[in-house]
Amino acid sequence: MTRIADLLAAGPTYSFEFFPPKSDRELKVLSQTLLELQPLGPSFVSVTYRGGAASRQRTQDLVTGMLHTSTLVPMAHLVCVAHTRLELAEILVSLRKAGVENVLALGGDPTAADDGSPRELAYAVQLVELARAIGGFSIGVAAHPAGHPASPDLRSDRDRLAEKLALADFAITQFFFEPDEYLGLVADLAERGVRKPVLPGIMPVTSLRSVPRMAAMGAAVPAWMESRLVEADATGGAEAVRRCGIELATELCRAVLAAGAPGLHFYTLNQSGATREIYLALGLAPKAIAAGAG
Ligand code: FAD
Repeated sequence: MTRIADLLAAGPTYSFEFFPPKSDRELKVLSQTLLELQPLGPSFVSVTYRGGAASRQRTQDLVTGMLHTSTLVPMAHLVCVAHTRLELAEILVSLRKAGVENVLALGGDPTAADDGSPRELAYAVQLVELARAIGGFSIGVAAHPAGHPASPDLRSDRDRLAEKLALADFAITQFFFEPDEYLGLVADLAERGVRKPVLPGIMPVTSLRSVPRMAAMGAAVPAWMESRLVEADATGGAEAVRRCGIELATELCRAVLAAGAPGLHFYTLNQSGATREIYLALGLAPKAIAAGAG
């Protein structure tokens, strides 16, 4: 069973997100990370995509490599930017031919102007429709707990998300730091009659340096959380900050799982440490690994 919709129907899923390496050094780091995370037995893994020709090749190579040389269930991200409709159809067909059954259909963010074709699909929902028309895919979409930054207001963003998710199989959220942000999103979708699985996206904050970067990447670290990290730094330095960030992310995971989340999706940034520690703290790792870690 390798369709994510089927995995979610059978129980909670725990998944890891990676980006395709752009250099030999990044490839070495990712290979090591995969060696360390694969034994945790993730339900599936996902591979990001930027749009344009070079990114297309990198994502496809990594996804098909995983499919043929590992037991991982991969999901390819695909974005509307820097592609014509025909190119997107070609990519989807070639993914299906390669045996890829899962795709995350995204709007995407602007890429280098000269890297790719003019964008023809305005919104992710059109890519969901295209993937459905081609057939055979389990289709995920992105959800933004605080609303997408380009939306005029939260209500219209939720309306658009509900329309998109009604056509897809599941959603994965942008990272967030308070359980209520996730629960509010799920409640808003239910109000609109959409009850498809929404996987919470988890990004631990493991250094003070990354606090300002989080806002630029999608979600600001709340003041109470920054205070806890600053306090940890004052008492134990960088290692204490790291431990504190992992504890906070573990608490968040516990809270959303207890409230009924259908699993967890970890943004790994191609590093294994934090994800592995949270996985172990939550008791999700296979028994042999948990015993070894103790
Ligand atoms: P859309 O669903 O198209 O929404 C974008 C905006 O348009 C929103 O404001 C929405 O409300 C509005 N909108 C949507 N439909 C309509 C409509 N019919 N009419 C009017 N307005 C509408 N980016 C990458 O480049 N590569 C990746 O691999 C990648 N992976 C991601 C993974 C996850 C889990 C998440 C949460 C995000 C990821 N992103 C990635 C970022 C994403 O591409 C950006 O957030 C992008 O700006 C929006 O993507 P979307 O799929 O939410 O877009």
